[in-house]
Amino acid sequence: MPLERHATVIDSFSNAPEQIREVVDTYGYWLEDIGNCPLYFNEEIGELEKTSSGYIPDEWRIVMDKYMNDYEYGIVFRHEYGHYIDDMIGNYSETHEYNQAFKMDKKIFNNATDEGNANIDDMLRDLSENISVFESRYVSDILSAITENDTKIIKYYDKNEVEFFWHRWEKYWFPFKHMKNETFANLFAIYTENNSDIVAFAEKWFPNLTEQFKISINKSIELNGVDKSMTEINEYYGDDGAYRKLDNLTENEWAKCLAKYYMKYQEIFGYIPDESDYSCTREVYAEALLKALEEKKEISEYLKM
Ligand SMILES: [Zn+2]
Repeated sequence: MPLERHATVIDSFSNAPEQIREVVDTYGYWLEDIGNCPLYFNEEIGELEKTSSGYIPDEWRIVMDKYMNDYEYGIVFRHEYGHYIDDMIGNYSETHEYNQAFKMDKKIFNNATDEGNANIDDMLRDLSENISVFESRYVSDILSAITENDTKIIKYYDKNEVEFFWHRWEKYWFPFKHMKNETFANLFAIYTENNSDIVAFAEKWFPNLTEQFKISINKSIELNGVDKSMTEINEYYGDDGAYRKLDNLTENEWAKCLAKYYMKYQEIFGYIPDESDYSCTREVYAEALLKALEEKKEISEYLKM
């Protein structure tokens, strides 16, 4: 992490409640790096551009725009860390339960119904009564997702000269997946920031999502790193998006499933183990690999050649 941001990052978590702290304690050490946004060559305009802040799941890295001031850096960092935690606990935002919660909260603001419109009006009134909630970019980004950028809401922000932080969902290949990923990261950020007005607003207007979020955090505290990763490996989906058992993944899919663990292994031991040295099931192999990473001992300690 850039040294000069150390205090900012610590500070952005200073108010976090106990459960969030526990999650960070459990999963924090897997985070490889907090770096600056890399430059890339934009062929369309023929210029170098920097990528925006984000979390890179395959590499367990967060990249941050180095031109942000400390205040903004802290705000964005909490959000990106939320993506990291979502990834570490097995992409909870893509589970069936979270999906159901997302749909239920979306219904609250269904602008095709009278009730939905009345709720939008009530919600906007709540916003206008509390400036910290109104200005929370986590709140506006959740609204952006669950209302799919309802124009009435955006206009309300504009009229009050409050910035509406949002995503253009239509630009994504899988907009609904991203809406859920983003709401999760924003909820993580809200609970970590722990402003009581913002938390109260979120729990009032996103009741199902906030409940699911809390469940996810409690569940993830129960799992330790190895169990959690094992769950993720066991639930690996094939390239076609269909679930199949580990032993039925193609060689290629299996390699992808293990890729990030191998990367970590290579970093620690300087080589990638050869699975063909061992005659065991993929599940046994994966468990040994995770143990090796956690205890920083070579995989041969756990498997017979
Ligand atoms: Zn995000």
